[in-house]
Amino acid sequence: MQAVQIFTTGSTDVLTLSEIPIPTPGPGQALIRIEACGVNFIDTYFREGRYPTPLPYTLGQEAAGTVAAIGPGVKNLQAGDRVAWCGIPGTYAQFALAPADRLVPIPASITTQQAAAAILQGMTAHYLAHSTYPIQRGDEVLIHAGAGGTGLLLTQIAKSLGARVFTTVSTEEKAALSRAAGADEVILYTQKNFAAEVRRLTHDRGLPVVYDSVGKSTFEASLTCLRPRGVMVLFGGASGPVPPFDLIRLSTMGSLYITRPTLKDYIATPTDLHARASDIFNNIAFGNLKLRIEHTYPLKDAAQAQRDLESRQTTGKLLLLP
Ligand code: NDP
Repeated sequence: MQAVQIFTTGSTDVLTLSEIPIPTPGPGQALIRIEACGVNFIDTYFREGRYPTPLPYTLGQEAAGTVAAIGPGVKNLQAGDRVAWCGIPGTYAQFALAPADRLVPIPASITTQQAAAAILQGMTAHYLAHSTYPIQRGDEVLIHAGAGGTGLLLTQIAKSLGARVFTTVSTEEKAALSRAAGADEVILYTQKNFAAEVRRLTHDRGLPVVYDSVGKSTFEASLTCLRPRGVMVLFGGASGPVPPFDLIRLSTMGSLYITRPTLKDYIATPTDLHARASDIFNNIAFGNLKLRIEHTYPLKDAAQAQRDLESRQTTGKLLLLP
């Protein structure tokens, strides 16, 4: 089978299309024929070496497809079932192994591609809005990169919970997409000081929460958007990692809270995993949550997909079709 691997870390040049044997499922595992896999920022962090991992490493952590075989002891699945999963490496490939208890069945009402496009970013948006900082009706919230894959979904969920949503985006085209997703106030942070805009638009009230996935270039200004006891949710670093931070500043800036959450801790139990995934899939099926699959690529173009994601040109979701 074909798989996109790295043998060393670095730029997208290190991505290699390899021919490797189809693996055999062990106890508790399933072998899945992948129909679509998501391209996520976290894949670029593994490629760069920001998250160290043994090499060679098959990239990708999100996919959907059809169960091809099951290993000993698997009771909840059979060959032919459509499933989606995330957080398990090795999805930039034609086949992958995954623990059967981490696979989520795909309802008949959504396509396999939709499931691959939604499971990681959708469950991320879900836990951020429902659990990390549970949004209350009337809350004013800031979401950076509002036209990105996660940003578009988080905006829709925040609106459905009754928030007034502020987003940041880099271009007018992205601003239109963010507004279409429901954002009330869209700030072009490449042209304006977003923190000053937030302060102006809230009459200096400040916000109870900022969802910041951009990191290095937005972190400091994001803190100044918060009201006393506000929550800074730093959930990514698309512009680079945030430098070390002196905790005394949380006190001087208004008894602020900072958290650096990650999806795996919010889907650690099968109950959480299935509840979040079914909520996302059902909302897509009912049309409450709109997915934007911006571009699909053949597996051999994985490097191009990552370059596109990193170049800041993309909106919504990018998929590889192995
Ligand atoms: P996006 O589709 O949101 O793409 C990233 C966006 O970040 C860009 O489109 C761009 O939007 C913005 N950006 C701002 N500065 C830069 C820069 N210097 N270089 C590149 N992009 C920049 O990606 P994802 O939805 O896949 O991921 C968004 C973030 O969420 C990532 O940081 C990722 O790591 C994080 N994440 C975290 C998870 C968690 O559980 N902690 C889970 C899933 C994702 P614009 O042009 O509008 O500025």
